[in-house]
Amino acid sequence: MTIVIVGAGQTGAVAARTLRRRGYAERIVLLGAEADGPYQRPPLSKEYLAGTVERAELDLLDPSWCAENAVELRTGCRVVRIRTGDRAVELADGASVVGDVVLLATGGRARRLPGVSGERVHHLRTVADAERLRASLRPGAHVIIAGAGFIGSEVASTAVAAGASVTVLEQAPVPLAHAIGPRMGEVCAGLLREAGVDLRTSERVASVTERSGGVEVRTAAGTVLAGDALVVGIGMLPNDEVAAASRLDVSDGVLVDEHCRTSAPGVFAAGDVARHYHPPSGRHVRVEHVDNATAQGMAAAKNMLGKAVPYDAPHWFYSEQFGHDLQFAGDAEGCDELVSRGDPASRDFVAFYLRKGVVRAAFAIDRGGDVALARALITAQAAPEPAALADESVDLADLLD
Ligand SMILES: Cc1cc2nc3c(=O)[nH]c(=O)nc-3n(C[C@H](O)[C@H](O)[C@H](O)COP(=O)(O)OP(=O)(O)OC[C@H]3O[C@@H](n4cnc5c(N)ncnc54)[C@H](O)[C@@H]3O)c2cc1C
Repeated sequence: MTIVIVGAGQTGAVAARTLRRRGYAERIVLLGAEADGPYQRPPLSKEYLAGTVERAELDLLDPSWCAENAVELRTGCRVVRIRTGDRAVELADGASVVGDVVLLATGGRARRLPGVSGERVHHLRTVADAERLRASLRPGAHVIIAGAGFIGSEVASTAVAAGASVTVLEQAPVPLAHAIGPRMGEVCAGLLREAGVDLRTSERVASVTERSGGVEVRTAAGTVLAGDALVVGIGMLPNDEVAAASRLDVSDGVLVDEHCRTSAPGVFAAGDVARHYHPPSGRHVRVEHVDNATAQGMAAAKNMLGKAVPYDAPHWFYSEQFGHDLQFAGDAEGCDELVSRGDPASRDFVAFYLRKGVVRAAFAIDRGGDVALARALITAQAAPEPAALADESVDLADLLD
């Protein structure tokens, strides 16, 4: 039997490791388009961008581990299509690898502003992107960032720490409201502003002109900003072209069920590229966070081995900004009540999102332990008294009963 994994990122690496740990002893081929083997992306906007961790520390699969475990890692190898009839995975160079089972783990790429590119324009998805951007983060530089999402905010944090001045343009009235709601989005806006970032909301980039000394950004409101670099941090697009060319069901990501199965037998998908049916959410969702890539990569591996394990845990993600640890778990969609334990203004709190009294999600700053317990409350569909959730003297674990 041969398992072919398309995409050598977080998801692909975890899937390969899980297959071996679960005792699968036959052939694994891991195909990646990048020149590098699998590496962690979260440090690219944090420690690696700041230059405080070495390149080797990002690696996810040691070449010696691949050799010892007979994982055929092929880098610089772009897949164009899967012939779903016989699961032949076709490569851009004309070769093909036939798999009995195929996992699509092609991740995503940075979304771009139409027509905006150039030497001083940056996107952040790869090690090379981070290394190029790092050179622009120096004392006295003015860095303009389009987008106050997690990556834009983390780059702002790293840039401020490097001594740069930062302007962030965010088209929405409140940053991150789509992910964590407007009240917690305002808290995140506060983190940026307190750090001296010039955050301008309801402002979008209209045009960008590169000059010899820098970049000129004109906003839709007509403001002109001069900077040394522009970072476009406006989200990502799923790399679902291979799936589309293979005639799999695709809708802003590869559609999969709770067992990571695509519309073609024997073809699975997981990670940033997958729009998966998530039973607790009751709908298909695409999640662009590393815990999802890890947990779903593991789930896909087990399902490829015929275990029929549903992927249904609450989603979870973290961010690090301005010396704070931000964490979110669950699904805030449709929630009608927000209960805080601790004062959000103190930047040491956890907020619970309730829907009809049931805990559905939580967001915390510097309270990771509470988010771990919140995940248990979400899984248990607990409906504690809001007053007990807010009361610091009540142990959250006791609310699980
Ligand atoms: C700068 C940055 C910071 C982040 N910080 C955080 C964070 O703090 N917290 C958090 O939870 N998440 C964070 N993330 C998100 C996290 O890194 C992603 O969710 C995770 O990398 C997704 O893994 P993946 O393997 O699904 O996709 P990817 O990491 O995108 O890997 C997919 C791989 O597939 C390859 N590929 C694509 N198409 C083909 C093809 N046709 N043939 C062969 N190979 C192909 C790509 O080149 C890539 O190497 C961050 C992401 C970035 C970019």
